[in-house]
Amino acid sequence: MKKIAILGSTGSIGTQTLEVVRENPDMQVTALSAGKNVGLLEAQAREFHPKLVSLQDEEAAKTLAVRLADTDIRVVSGMDGLLETATEGTADIVVTAVVGMIGIRPTIAAIEAGKDIALANKETLVTAGHLIMPLAKKRGVRILPVDSEHSAIFQSLNGEQGNRIDKILLTASGGPFRGWTKEQLKSVRLEDALKHPNWAMGRKITIDSSTMVNKGLEVMEARWLFDVALDDVQVVIQPQSVIHSMVQFEDGAVVAQLGVPDMKLPIQYALLYPERRHMPGGRLDFWTLRSLDFAAPDFENFPGLSLAYEAGRAGGTMPTVFNAANEWAVAAFLKREISYLDITNLIGAAMAHHGKTEDPGLEEILQTEAETYTYLSEM
Ligand code: NDP
Repeated sequence: MKKIAILGSTGSIGTQTLEVVRENPDMQVTALSAGKNVGLLEAQAREFHPKLVSLQDEEAAKTLAVRLADTDIRVVSGMDGLLETATEGTADIVVTAVVGMIGIRPTIAAIEAGKDIALANKETLVTAGHLIMPLAKKRGVRILPVDSEHSAIFQSLNGEQGNRIDKILLTASGGPFRGWTKEQLKSVRLEDALKHPNWAMGRKITIDSSTMVNKGLEVMEARWLFDVALDDVQVVIQPQSVIHSMVQFEDGAVVAQLGVPDMKLPIQYALLYPERRHMPGGRLDFWTLRSLDFAAPDFENFPGLSLAYEAGRAGGTMPTVFNAANEWAVAAFLKREISYLDITNLIGAAMAHHGKTEDPGLEEILQTEAETYTYLSEM
């Protein structure tokens, strides 16, 4: 029996993880956490019978406790509750599918408790990869990527241990505004940015995909996951999202993973690794697919990607500033407080203002996050 705890069970990755669990009778949910969605977490608790559920919001947790009073499921709340979910005693693997830097502490706690990590929350490695990867190695736990691109790279590296990677070719759809000019991007509304051509995802990552900031975060994440130099991660636009990413080895061979765009595949692969198992759903049909397109990214009109490389090369606390400024700006854009182009303008401004610290510990990372928020809100 595979015992699974899910952080962020009511979100896009969380609900798809539960769809995978539903299809696999030898998987069992031991703990679930969410932000404030009482109704969905109650329904999940009743269907999957975890030992523990947690809500970040204290009031919502009180309501949930009343609603689940007829069960023996324990209801906890806040950061302590999230940490309890991450370290629940019986879980073998923790799916980290909360959105944002709130994912760092529970991921560290889960690793320290010896749990394998099915990593969806990319903000964790971007900001604290230099702490997480050595800790995982020390505790002998596996970090199994859920992000489709990183899962594709992970799959492409199967059986290649010891062989030198020349380049990671990280594919990107280019998002809904691929080919747009700066002038056209000025008029982007929230509704437009929330429509991704190939993937249905949470709101924050959907905006991040449209600005290419998501790809920038993925470049930094790949650097930590696969222990390569940042500049050996090359972004390739592949508009159909059929090639999920590729690895070029030193002999010139390129190995890729392809499939229909469906997050349940990388989720199931992370949960069952190294086993592959039947999955319902679509399959690629190469007779009808006919062509695959490729292009270089547009660094000029999508500065989110160049800023990410800049932040990644600078290292230290700079990736935290990149990430925190983006979280702040996307939240403001979702509330219609700033314009679309302001998102990357604010990231650039926060990075220009920041005096970087090398090799930050967890407290310095969290302090940098808070300072970035303060700087942007007082601008
Ligand atoms: P969603 O916004 O759909 O879901 C976020 C989840 O986190 C929800 O369960 C939400 O609960 C919970 N949550 C939000 N804020 C808090 C908080 N402060 N404390 C505790 N829990 C909180 O996000 P996604 O599923 O799209 O993304 C999750 C992560 O996975 C992100 O880091 C994203 O970059 C990454 N990812 C997502 C992919 C996708 O296809 N969606 C693909 C690859 C990576 P509630 O519902 O109560 O608000």
